[in-house]
Amino acid sequence: MSERPRLTVLSGPSGVGKSTVVAHMRKEHPEVWLSVSATTRKPRPGEKHGVHYFFVTDDEMDKLIANGELLEWAEFAGNRYGTPRAAVLERLEAGEPVLLEIDLQGARQVRESMAEAQLVFLAPPSWEELVRRLTGRGTEAPEVIERRLDAAKVELAAEPEFDMTLVNTSVEDVARELLALVDVV
Ligand code: ADP
Ligand code: 5GP
Repeated sequence: MSERPRLTVLSGPSGVGKSTVVAHMRKEHPEVWLSVSATTRKPRPGEKHGVHYFFVTDDEMDKLIANGELLEWAEFAGNRYGTPRAAVLERLEAGEPVLLEIDLQGARQVRESMAEAQLVFLAPPSWEELVRRLTGRGTEAPEVIERRLDAAKVELAAEPEFDMTLVNTSVEDVARELLALVDVV
């Protein structure tokens, strides 16, 4: 059997449940290492610097990009997001599985730079359910929700680019499937 990929990218439209699924998986399997991204977005209530994101200013993001410190980065719905390179490479060099939760543009960049990465798409059970989840989360203003739903149409159309799709009907089921894919030893 060939060696399994060590780097897994989880993508999917905003509101589909990526954070929920990953949090559920890590509650039972804290050993799964998730990259903490840098973002220029403001923290939502309860989000902690260094845990959910590294919350940075525009200037700080400019520097991270200019210094080549990001493995990939993208602008999403008015904010910039990027994956710190060093922490990911350290884990991979130590032979440990790495999980990235990033948008479609980031997933494409990772596919270009790391051919061995496996790309997993998290899909909603339906468009109506995606709208319900994104709106029901209650964390974004109506115009931000609109931007995210516009982006969601593009992301859903790109599903065939991914190595596999998981449909987020049940958080428990998807968390279990994802754990198997991440290949924790
Ligand atoms: P993402 O990280 O993809 O933007 P979230 O994890 O924040 O999405 O989930 C968006 C909303 O959908 C949250 O309110 C979450 O509780 C809810 N949610 C996530 N997964 C499910 C599911 N399988 N069934 C019902 N609601 C879900
Ligand atoms: P949110 O603002 O809802 O936390 O994230 C918005 C989008 O940005 C989501 O699709 C999320 O996966 C993506 N994202 C989070 N971190 C990164 C990152 O480091 N790089 C890229 N390209 N996208 C990211």
